[in-house]
Amino acid sequence: MPPFEAKRSYRDRGTANIPLRQQAEAGMKAKPSYLLEYLHNTVTENNIYEVAKCNCRCWFCPDCCITEGYKLRARLIPILKTFKGLIMETLTVDPELFSNPKDAYLYVMENRCVSVTTQDLYRWGYLATRRYFYVIEWQKDTQMPHFHVLYDSKYISWNAILYSWGKHRPKDAGEVKENRPRFGTVLHSAPNFKDPAYAGRYATKYLIKTPKEGFPEWVLDMGKERRIRRYSASRGFWGETSSKSNNDNKDKRKNQQKSYRERINGCGQTVNFFQLLVTTDIKTGEVEQNRKWLGQLDIQSKNLIPKINDNGNPKRNRRIFCAENFNAALTQLSTISQKKLGIIRKYKTFHWREVDEQKATNY
Ligand SMILES: [Zn+2]
Repeated sequence: MPPFEAKRSYRDRGTANIPLRQQAEAGMKAKPSYLLEYLHNTVTENNIYEVAKCNCRCWFCPDCCITEGYKLRARLIPILKTFKGLIMETLTVDPELFSNPKDAYLYVMENRCVSVTTQDLYRWGYLATRRYFYVIEWQKDTQMPHFHVLYDSKYISWNAILYSWGKHRPKDAGEVKENRPRFGTVLHSAPNFKDPAYAGRYATKYLIKTPKEGFPEWVLDMGKERRIRRYSASRGFWGETSSKSNNDNKDKRKNQQKSYRERINGCGQTVNFFQLLVTTDIKTGEVEQNRKWLGQLDIQSKNLIPKINDNGNPKRNRRIFCAENFNAALTQLSTISQKKLGIIRKYKTFHWREVDEQKATNY
C-alpha cells in the first residue's frame, strides 16, 4: 500500500488514492526537481508546497458550516452510542414574554435554562445521565430561538418537562395568559431514536444547512462582545480532550474582534500558503507529514485555487504543487494568477505542525 493512503479523510476521497508527489506534480503540470534529503535511514522531501482557501470557520458561514458540521457529527455519533436511549425534545420560548428575540436568547443563556431543566429531569428519574447536546434554530417569522435537545433517556414525561421548562418564566412576566405557555412549548419532535448515528445526523443536519431566509440580522451582528453558539452540550460531554484543545487553539489564533457578518465577508479573501515536509523511513516505509504555515497570500481564493490543476477532486479548496524553494513557489503562483503575489501575514517563527488531514480539508 502506498504510504500516503494511510492518511485519508472523509472529505477528501477524491485524492486519497493518489500519492502526494503525483498530486503535486499535477498541480503546475511541470517537471519538478527532486530535492530529497537523505539522513540516516530517512528520506525527506521538502519541495512540495500547498495553497488553501483561508476559511472564516464561522458556524454562520454557508460554506464553512458544512465542513464544521461534518466534523462535529463525526465527534458526536460515538458519544451518542454510549447513551442508554435517545430522545429529542424541542424547547421553545413564548415571544410574548420578551420585547425581542435577542433578549429571549440572552435570558435563556444567562439563566442556564436548558441545564436547569436537565437537572430537574435527572432528579425525577427520566435521564440515564445528565449529558445533553442541543442545537439552536430560529423561528422563521418571529426569529425566536428554539432548542433541539438530545437526552440520554428512554422516556420523558411531557407534563414533567413542560412543568420544568415553565419554571423559567421571568419573575416580572405576571400571570400566565389563557392559551399561552408558562415559558414556552415543548415538542417531542422526533421518535425515540434507535440508531445513535441517525440521531446524530438528525441533530447536526440543522448545523450543516443555512436557513433559506438566512440567519436573523441580530444573530449576524453578534460575535464581537458576545458569542452565540449554534450548538452546545452539557459540561464534560466531549471528554477531557475538548477543553485542552480549546486552550491550544486560543494560543494559535487569537479570536479577532469581529461580528459574524464581518467574519463571513472575509471568508476566502486570502489564501494560506504552506510547505509540506514529508519524511519516509526507508526501512519501515513509515511516512510522517508535517505542514509549515508560510503565511497568507494577498489573493482571493477563487482567483487562484481553481487555476491549479487537481486530478483528484477539483472541488476542494486546496492544491499542492512542486517548487524548488519558497521564492520559486511564489513566482509560480504569481505566474498562474497573473498577479505579483505578496505575503500579508506570516508567523515570526516558523514551526512544523503534523498534518491533520481532517482539519486540513477544512480550508
Ligand atoms: Zn466561511
